[in-house]
Amino acid sequence: MISLSKPVISEEEKQAVMRVLDSGMIAQGPEVAAFEDEFSLFMEGHHCIAVNSGTSALHLGLLASGIECGDEVIIPSFTFAATANAVALCGATPVFVDIDIETFTMDPKAAEAAITENTSAIMPVHLYGHPSNMDPLTEICSRKGLTLLEDAAQAHLATYKSQPVGTFGTAAFSFYPTKNMTSGEGGMIVTSDDEIARKAKLLRNQGMEIRYQNEVVGFNNRMTDIHAAIGRVQLKKLRERTTQRQKNAKFLSENLSTVTVPTASSDAEHVYHQYTITTDRRDDLSEYLNQAEIGNGVYYPIPVHELPSFGKQIDLPNTKAAAKQALSIPVHPLLTSEELNRIVEVMNEWY
Ligand SMILES: *Cc1c(COP(=O)(O)O)cnc(C)c1O
Repeated sequence: MISLSKPVISEEEKQAVMRVLDSGMIAQGPEVAAFEDEFSLFMEGHHCIAVNSGTSALHLGLLASGIECGDEVIIPSFTFAATANAVALCGATPVFVDIDIETFTMDPKAAEAAITENTSAIMPVHLYGHPSNMDPLTEICSRKGLTLLEDAAQAHLATYKSQPVGTFGTAAFSFYPTKNMTSGEGGMIVTSDDEIARKAKLLRNQGMEIRYQNEVVGFNNRMTDIHAAIGRVQLKKLRERTTQRQKNAKFLSENLSTVTVPTASSDAEHVYHQYTITTDRRDDLSEYLNQAEIGNGVYYPIPVHELPSFGKQIDLPNTKAAAKQALSIPVHPLLTSEELNRIVEVMNEWY
């Protein structure tokens, strides 16, 4: 079986965990601080605040940006439910808009058309590792006075016109095991705004900056030093592993002949969190690949606005098409050239 995704855990991660366990300091401490500093080097020096998941990073990033009850936040519907959950958990309303069918990311024109007097933020998702179309989105936000947030959970090291995603607005990354790098569970809030950074730190830790002098009502969303130690090792290897993903994607795109391969816009460096093809006979292909023991996955079969948790009846044709046609196949950095060849052979024999 060729797996769809696989976290790469080496001796070094294991040793890092043992070092923390032996130190006796295992909750948030020096490893978390070091992980934040090291992540910041990839984020143009912006503030980095580590938390216990990508969902917490989105949630606290929104709260720290002042998103509250009554606000509308514009998001794409073609995403993981966490994007919308984070908005709803602030008491705000997610407003779902359509995607550009080529890149699977938020359509800036659709975002602009959805703005009302209650809109306070736009939150694009860099889905599958492809950056959203940031020039028009940044322009709309500054012209309309809206907050720009980025769901960068799938897009570590992706760039738009050479600028790293995560540095356009306040952003959230995830370190869940299937993501391009992991800490076990974990997330990172990234922001250039001193006040948002301070609020996010308060919210992460019961509203405290000085112990027992709680300033606001907050959460326990801290990352542990055990997780940070894993994340630090993974971060060191991220560039190399991303390059391997990109090489694997290039090989697949040059050789697959029976499906539509993913496109990367000329402004974008795609980091291939997923390698996602489209075909009208998606479910047939998925079954065929299962038979051939080639891992594959549908991200995401139901647009978020249609889920029982949101239950909105709106027409988003590109979202609907993507949910029917998209299929992700293995691209992870542990694939061997034999496995890549087998994927191509098996896929090209499908009719
Ligand atoms: C994974 C993911 C999240 C949530 O991250 P967790 O670490 O699993 O909480 C949010 N948004 C998107 C697009 C994701 O893929």
